[in-house]
Amino acid sequence: MPSHKVFRISHPKPDITKLPSLGMDKKHITDDFKHYYSYRLGRDEHCRSPEYAYKAISLTISDRMVERWKQTYNLHRNQDGKQTFYLSMEFLLGRRLSNAIISLGVDSEVARALYGLGLAIEELVDSEPDAGLGNGGLGRLAACFIDSCATLKLPVTGYGLRYEYGMFIQEIVNGEQIEKPDHWLRNGNVWEIERPEYMTHIKFGGRTQIHIDENGHERVSWIDTHDVLAMPYDTPIPGYKNDTVNTLRLWKAMATEDFNLQEFNAGDYAEAVAQKNTAENITMVLYPNDANENGKALRLQQQYFLASASLQDVMANWVGRHGKDFTKFAEKNCFQLNDTHPSIAVAELMRLLLDIYGLPWKDAWQITRNTMAYTNHTLLPEALEKWPVELMRQLLPRLMEIIYDINAGFMAEVSAHWPGDSKRQVRMSIIEEGPTKQVRMAFLAIVGSFSVNGVAALHSELLQKGLFKDFYELWPLKFNNKTNGVTPRRWLAGCNPDLAALITTTIGDAWITDLAQLEKLKPYAENAAFRQQWRQIKQLSKQRLIDLKKQELDIEIDVNALFDVQVKRIHEYKRQILNVLHVIHLYDRIKRGDTQNWVDRCVLIGGKAAPGYVMAKKIIKLINNVANVINNDAQIGSQLKLAFLPNYRVSAMEKICPGTDLSEQISTAGKEASGTGNMKFMMNGALTIGTLDGANIEIRNEVGAENFFLFGLTAAEVESMQAHYNPQWFIEQDGDLQAVMHLLECGHFNQFEPGIFDDIITSLKSPQDPWMTIADFRSYIEAQKQVEHAWRNQEQWTRMSILNTATSGKFSSDRTIQEYNRDIWKMSPIDVSE
Ligand SMILES: *Cc1c(COP(=O)(O)O)cnc(C)c1O
Repeated sequence: MPSHKVFRISHPKPDITKLPSLGMDKKHITDDFKHYYSYRLGRDEHCRSPEYAYKAISLTISDRMVERWKQTYNLHRNQDGKQTFYLSMEFLLGRRLSNAIISLGVDSEVARALYGLGLAIEELVDSEPDAGLGNGGLGRLAACFIDSCATLKLPVTGYGLRYEYGMFIQEIVNGEQIEKPDHWLRNGNVWEIERPEYMTHIKFGGRTQIHIDENGHERVSWIDTHDVLAMPYDTPIPGYKNDTVNTLRLWKAMATEDFNLQEFNAGDYAEAVAQKNTAENITMVLYPNDANENGKALRLQQQYFLASASLQDVMANWVGRHGKDFTKFAEKNCFQLNDTHPSIAVAELMRLLLDIYGLPWKDAWQITRNTMAYTNHTLLPEALEKWPVELMRQLLPRLMEIIYDINAGFMAEVSAHWPGDSKRQVRMSIIEEGPTKQVRMAFLAIVGSFSVNGVAALHSELLQKGLFKDFYELWPLKFNNKTNGVTPRRWLAGCNPDLAALITTTIGDAWITDLAQLEKLKPYAENAAFRQQWRQIKQLSKQRLIDLKKQELDIEIDVNALFDVQVKRIHEYKRQILNVLHVIHLYDRIKRGDTQNWVDRCVLIGGKAAPGYVMAKKIIKLINNVANVINNDAQIGSQLKLAFLPNYRVSAMEKICPGTDLSEQISTAGKEASGTGNMKFMMNGALTIGTLDGANIEIRNEVGAENFFLFGLTAAEVESMQAHYNPQWFIEQDGDLQAVMHLLECGHFNQFEPGIFDDIITSLKSPQDPWMTIADFRSYIEAQKQVEHAWRNQEQWTRMSILNTATSGKFSSDRTIQEYNRDIWKMSPIDVSE
């Protein structure tokens, strides 16, 4: 064995603002840029690709975060206050460079430095690939949350997986979605630091065995396992101009050092390498399903890998400081579970406390129940995770035993509370009986947590009345609401610099960390000069959006048209089909000559479909086929355009939301837990057309009913109509709807592709259609007429637009995180600069 020399580098705490080499001015930034570009990257003036310039400036910026990062990290580890760990299978970060520049407050110095070098900052920013480690809203929420935690100086660490392949890249060929792998790490990742010193072992398979420990107590050991290594990669998460840099720790699966010894000795080299790949497969790819895929063994391995690596990491740190005294563990640590995906953590914390640290069951259970908090993200029953008991027993035998023991104790609680109510026990059991027994992960999360929250007021209420009614009756105080939010740094200051500058000139810049301040814009809605400036900025954003999409889409778009946008995952409950029915109706009106007072409209729809979701892929095809007919009809011209925006992702949304006039939030009431796209649009001055669903309700409350286009059944009406829903009746009542259905049914949009939309038509007309699209058609069309009426009065529209931004303060994730901290985490902010 080679001997290692240990270096002790003395580390006086440097004053980060005074380090000469890390100056925040143009000169120091330029010098560092040149250094990285020439030496580390080995490029010169002959290099044409913006990629290396992007890397050089990113390394320069990254250096300026690292000293602050180390200070924050050490302060959090060494202080004896409470810490929270945000466990999430997804972090949809998007691009990092522009966010880091804004957070450090060096935007103008960087721009000056790059200008001096003959480089355009926008081009460099655009050459960064998105970190697409998430599907949609849930993953983006995690990214907004950790941004807010750092800005609020809260000691929160994100834990997730470092997928080799993130969300697939979507291409559209012949109107259909094609999935291309997203190898986002191919050109390196300048933002992460590998930390082999915190590597941990994760067990899979094997069996359990009882033995007697040194104190004469029975202990279980989990043996004959196939171990996988978890290697942490840390990404800095800078707070906004506050010297706090929190950590996002992502785990990569690696084969253990001794993985191949036996086979290697036996001479079977290929077999050994194949086994190495099996281990590394665990973090190879993100599952591209927005609502969740059940039963895949690899997905369960990913979930356990995240939970176990993260918990072991926190425990090792605890033991390093407190030894094996866990009496204050729950007081000082909280794990927030982002949906049920990481909820195996409940059983894993029990395992570590029982088997590794030798605590008695009662103590371990009390600690666990006071440490875990669970956020639910969906009411759709098909999205509730269940794992077959048999699969869990094979893959995680010790965890399965613990879940059975947890359930036995819980069933005793239930029968003590409701003696003799065996139906209730069956309903509430963590183990679902049946031909294949399954573990209900949501129930495990509820039973093992001290807090259960929904993500918008309506959603939290429906959880208590519906899905989790029994649990709410048992533990009413556990349940709470935390309405989602989005970070104003990315979703206003970063993505819409022109609007941000106008706002700052008008009311100062405090809104960036206190979004409620936007209220001060309200009086300016009555100021004609201000409205003029507001409109000009919207116009510029729309023009930029057109320019960006021009080559890609190959259609002429008029900047004066109403930009009507729906971007989000493609899902039946989100009802992109309802949007298409409206577009077909407008097309039909033009064809009939019913165009009095016409409002030119450009409808943009974008989003990815889960690769196995056949109906969602059909919807994409329908959008593209309808677009083809409309956009190539000379009689339609600029009156109506429809385009599908391929490869919707965070960096696309950053360009789309500033250029949107009308935000489509048209899900079936009661189905969208919150929505966060709706909030980004509102902040950027779009008006919303929407149902009373998720956070739409709260958006409408904030902006006022007169500034929101409401339509559709309520959640209660959807529920009560479900049993006797008769779409045929609605069609018979409505000539416009008949005309639309006729165009679909006669194959007007699929002349050379007979029958391809039959499934869509059948589901629309089915009394069993859970999304009740046809029931909301008339009311949607009427609301769209209200939109057009408002649009015709541009001064009035602009007033409404300003009021939308002005009242969007509630939807900052800073507000959301303050509520999480007030009600659940209960931590004190930590000032790094003191
Ligand atoms: C905000 C966002 C979402 C969530 O949008 P919803 O309309 O709330 O479903 C999904 N994907 C991306 C890339 C986002 O930025």
